[in-house]
Amino acid sequence: MADQKKDILRNKRVLIIDDSLTSKAVLEDILSAEGYESRHAMEGVEGLRIISEWNPAAVLLDLIMPGMDGMEVCRKIRRMNLPVRPAVLIVSVKDGKDTVVEALSNGADDFIVKPFNESELLARVTAQIRINEFYRELEEDKRNLETMVEITGALSATLDSTEVLSVIVGKVAAVMEAVRCSIVLIVKDDEGYVLASHEDPSVRELRIDLSKYPEIKEVINKKVPLALDDITTHPLMSGVKKNLKELQGMSVLIVPIVFNDEVLGTLFLRTRRREGGYTSKEIDFCRVVANSSFHALKNARLFERVSMEKEYLKEMAVRDQLTSLYNHNFFYSRLDEEFERAVRYETPLSLILMDIDNFKHVNDTYGHRVGDAVLREISAMIKKGVRKTDVVARYGGEEFAVILPHTLLKGAVDEAERLREIIESHVYAGLVTDRITMSIGVASYPQKAAINSGDLVNHADNALYKAKWSGKNCVKVADP
Ligand code: GH3
Ligand code: MG
Ligand code: MG
Repeated sequence: MADQKKDILRNKRVLIIDDSLTSKAVLEDILSAEGYESRHAMEGVEGLRIISEWNPAAVLLDLIMPGMDGMEVCRKIRRMNLPVRPAVLIVSVKDGKDTVVEALSNGADDFIVKPFNESELLARVTAQIRINEFYRELEEDKRNLETMVEITGALSATLDSTEVLSVIVGKVAAVMEAVRCSIVLIVKDDEGYVLASHEDPSVRELRIDLSKYPEIKEVINKKVPLALDDITTHPLMSGVKKNLKELQGMSVLIVPIVFNDEVLGTLFLRTRRREGGYTSKEIDFCRVVANSSFHALKNARLFERVSMEKEYLKEMAVRDQLTSLYNHNFFYSRLDEEFERAVRYETPLSLILMDIDNFKHVNDTYGHRVGDAVLREISAMIKKGVRKTDVVARYGGEEFAVILPHTLLKGAVDEAERLREIIESHVYAGLVTDRITMSIGVASYPQKAAINSGDLVNHADNALYKAKWSGKNCVKVADP
């Protein structure tokens, strides 16, 4: 309530335009006793200048003055383009119906005859300022309502959440004359994303570190709007002062986007500093708009999560859980593709199959968990040891496969030999003295006739079998 009263009589400036110093002195005394701030001009031209610079809430205007008379001054005031329309009250010895009618038709709001009663004069000034303020508030309400209707229209016209959010920031920025207006999605304690920003419509997911925005964190914690009249001097901002150099003369307003006590994000506004700060009406407007964006924000977040999960599931479906290498299924479909490509473009294709020697012994001696760790270590080494274009898969329990596109037999054997040496010379974390070795079979198309990818697998498998038979820990190629 106190806030509202402050808003209504926010502007208590009164300008007296009167060539009589006695009148001026009397008026000044009355006004200052009531808490009004007054200034004085001896004639019209100076009066108009003060109005344009000082923007008073009311003008007490004498009619008979040297130079421009009061009627003309009044007409000129009404033609000025001012942020706040001042109330004009004629205070004159000249009376009579004709004068009053003329003054009112020239844009005056009231007519007070000298000599006047002090309390009546005060009551009239206060009443006129209040009427003006109500008028201004009505204008503001109307504009806010129009904006809300437009936003609601955008909400129902599109299902694209990010588009809704960018409409919202655009409208709010226009109404609030903001230099920056954005919607920030809160993900974690210190992690936020700018999902829409009016000054740069291309911003869709700009990650921000919330530890640099104590004002946003404050709003998330308290769940109520926060207005900082001067962002550079506010105690809340003392920890991040060095980031605020360019924000001299700026005010910020941050409104939480809440629903059922859940804070999803914030509406963030930066404006040039204005006298008196943000009004409670402006803050209320932003609060309504912020909350209207709740569902769009929620959808945007949901969409984000679902598409991330989808990606994750897609990835999971082709990966082996223990080693994170590609799984058996993926290996086959990829090998099919590569084989077709090799046939169509007449390029070579090689396949390496590897099987750990005596792995059962590792499990029996050290346990299954150590066995698992060894499988992981070997997987990592193979992955690291092959070329970027090679495809590594876990083919079976302790068997691995490497697809080598565009690779002739010789290159594949070299690579297999290198892998064999790496694995043999590695010291494994869980194994006391035991070393690990591998038997490896290599087959290449077109060195070996193959009609499909299955043939290539059989050839490599036969070669692997040969390696086992010749004492393990070696590389063999398919029979010519
Ligand atoms: P060879 O030299 O003839 O290949 O002997 P091997 O012991 O390696 O072969 P065999 O096929 O007899 O045994 C394979 C072993 O691999 C048996 C199985 O328990 C183990 N194994 C398969 N998958 C896993 C796994 O995921 N984790 C662990 N720890 N062991 C596995
Ligand atoms: Mg085996
Ligand atoms: Mg084995």
